[in-house]
Amino acid sequence: MTTSLIQRYQNVQKRIDDAMLSANRTDHIQLLAVSKTKPIEDIVALAEVGQRAFGENYVQEALDKIEQRPDLEWHFIGPIQSNKTKPIAENFHWVHSVDRFKIARRLSDQRPDNSPSLNILLEVNISNETSKAGFSPTEILDVAKQVLELPHLTLRGLMAIPAKTHSHEEQKEPFHQMKVLLDSLQATFPGQPIDTLSMGMSADLEAAIEEGATIVRIGTDIFGART
Ligand SMILES: *Cc1c(COP(=O)(O)O)cnc(C)c1O
Repeated sequence: MTTSLIQRYQNVQKRIDDAMLSANRTDHIQLLAVSKTKPIEDIVALAEVGQRAFGENYVQEALDKIEQRPDLEWHFIGPIQSNKTKPIAENFHWVHSVDRFKIARRLSDQRPDNSPSLNILLEVNISNETSKAGFSPTEILDVAKQVLELPHLTLRGLMAIPAKTHSHEEQKEPFHQMKVLLDSLQATFPGQPIDTLSMGMSADLEAAIEEGATIVRIGTDIFGART
């Protein structure tokens, strides 16, 4: 018998609860359900059991879903081409994958005046991979300073997709570096609502939670493998 969507979702919630317990954490963590390539029916089914936040990577696919469920909270987590910033600025509540200042400036310029400011995270290339998007950790404080000047954005924190490793100990290391970086961002800009570390996916959510993730982004272990 195949495990149902709702069972997989509840299993992930249990893993998160267990990881929070073993890390002695009583603060809030958000589960972002990464629904890219998955049908709206799956999103509707999860919304029925209380899931509010969904992550999408492809603009057109996401717009079709947002149009059907504008009441849910939508997070853009995919690579951003600069000619696609307008629909992102107009339709999402959060953007996790801001990897160039130019993208931040365009999102601010294109955020409608009557919308609340757009929550953004700076993507960090924490494993220093040439193939990967993101700022280098050494750039983050300078970029943050510039982003904080943009009127229609709220800088909420950092996001990372570390290189794949195998052991739990190896997984923890880049997540720990991200936590240190968030701490320095908060210390440099006190009074700003910088409170978010988006890290941890299906394969490494426990390590991320141990190191201080506040949003975990889970696709495969909720929705099943993507084809
Ligand atoms: C697809 C994706 C995820 C979900 O990954 P899973 O391994 O399927 O849980 C998380 N974050 C980003 C940025 C993604 O593109």
